Amino acid sequence: MKILVLNCGSSSIKYQLFDMVEKNWLVKGNVQKIGLLGTYISHENCKNIKIRLDREIPDYQKGIEEILKLLVDPELGVIKDLSEIKAVGHRVVHGGEVFKDHTLITDEMIDALEHLSNLAPLHNPQNIRGILSAQQVLPGIPQVAVFDTAFHQTIPSYSYMYPLPYSIYMKDKVRRYGFHGTSHYFVSRRAYAEYGIEKKNSKVITCHLGNGASITAVHNGNSVDTSMGMTPVEGLMMGTRVGDIDAGALLHIMTTENLNVTEINNLINKQSGLLGISGISFDMRDIRTAISNGGDRAKLAYDMFVYRIRKYIGSYSAVMNGVDAIIFTGGIGENSADVRKDICRDFDYLGLKIDNDLNVSLKGQGMISAPDSKVKVMVIPTNEELVIAEATYRLVGKI
Ligand code: ADP
Repeated sequence: MKILVLNCGSSSIKYQLFDMVEKNWLVKGNVQKIGLLGTYISHENCKNIKIRLDREIPDYQKGIEEILKLLVDPELGVIKDLSEIKAVGHRVVHGGEVFKDHTLITDEMIDALEHLSNLAPLHNPQNIRGILSAQQVLPGIPQVAVFDTAFHQTIPSYSYMYPLPYSIYMKDKVRRYGFHGTSHYFVSRRAYAEYGIEKKNSKVITCHLGNGASITAVHNGNSVDTSMGMTPVEGLMMGTRVGDIDAGALLHIMTTENLNVTEINNLINKQSGLLGISGISFDMRDIRTAISNGGDRAKLAYDMFVYRIRKYIGSYSAVMNGVDAIIFTGGIGENSADVRKDICRDFDYLGLKIDNDLNVSLKGQGMISAPDSKVKVMVIPTNEELVIAEATYRLVGKI
C-alpha cells in the first residue's frame, strides 16, 4: 500500500511517497518556484539518488504530473505503475470549525473548504488548487485532507475565544484555531511511545521552532492551548512573523505609516520577527553568525526569540499545573543546542536541569535533560508527512 503525500504552498509542492507496510518513505522532494522563473525539482529516493532537475512548470497540475513521472522513472523512481498509489494525502492548513478531523475529499467537502478560504486566504486556496489538480491527474484515486488545525480542536472555548464582541465570533468564526497540529501531535505521540511518558495524566509542552514557530500545551494527550491563533501570525516571534503584539500598535502603525491592509499584512508576515529586528536575516544560522561577529541587533533578535518561548513555557506550566516533559522540534529546535540551552536556563522552579554534554552532542532524536531533572527534555525530529500518510491510510482503509 503506497500513499502519496502532497503539501502545496504558495509556489511549491513538497511530496513524499510512503510504503505503509514498512512505514518508510520511498521518494521525497520539492517542486520549487512554480509559475516563476527558474522552476526546479529537488528529488531523492530511498536508493540514495539525489538530483536537481530544472523544468518549466507553470502551475500545480503540471507540477504534479512531473512528480508522477519521477515516481515511475526507472532510475529516479521506485514504482512501476501509478496504479500502485492507493491514495493521496494533502496537507490543508485551515479546517476552521467545520473540519474537526482529517477528512476524505468529496465535491461537497471541497465546497465547504472553499467557504473557509476567507479564514486562511494565504494558504487554503493553494491547498484547494493542489487537491483539484491531483484529482485531474490521478482520477478515481481517493484523496484525503489532513488539517493543521485538527489536533487543536480539543482546546477549550475559554482559551480559543478572543475577548471581542461575541457577535463577531458568531458571524465570522473569528477565534483561535492553532496550526502545526500534525507536528505537535507527532512529537507528543513519540514521547509517549519512546520515553516512558504515560499519556494519561501527562503534561507535555511541545515547541515547534522552525521559520514558523508555535508551542502547544498537551494535557492527557490533548492540545489544551497553543500559541498560534486564528492565523499563524499570533504567538512566538518567528523568522519573519511578528507573533504577539498589541492590536492597538498595529492600528497606530497603519495610521502613522499610511499603510493599507495588504501592506500591514506584509509587514507582520514577511518583514518582522528575526528579520525585522536583526535587519540581517530570518534564518537562525545567520543570526548566530552575526552574533559571533558582534551584531547587537542580531543579539537582540535572538534574546527576544528565546525570551518569548520561555514566557510561553511558564504560562503553559501554569495552565497545566506543572510539566512532565518539554519537546523541541523543527529546524531550530532540532539543530540549535544554543537555543535549547538558553530556553532551558533558570527553570529551577520547575526542577528542570539540562545535561549540557548531552545537549551539545545530540544528533537527531534523544533526551537532553539530566537524570535527576524533574522535567524530561527531549529533541524529537518532526515528521508531518508521516502523520498525513497515516491519517490517509486510516481513512482510506474505511472506504
Ligand atoms: P520551516 O518552518 O520553513 O519548515 P524549518 O523547520 O526547516 O523551517 O526550520 C528552519 C530554521 O531552522 C531556520 O531558522 C534555520 O536557520 C534553522 N536551523 C537549521 N539548522 C540549524 C542549525 N544547525 N543551527 C541553528 N538553526 C538551524
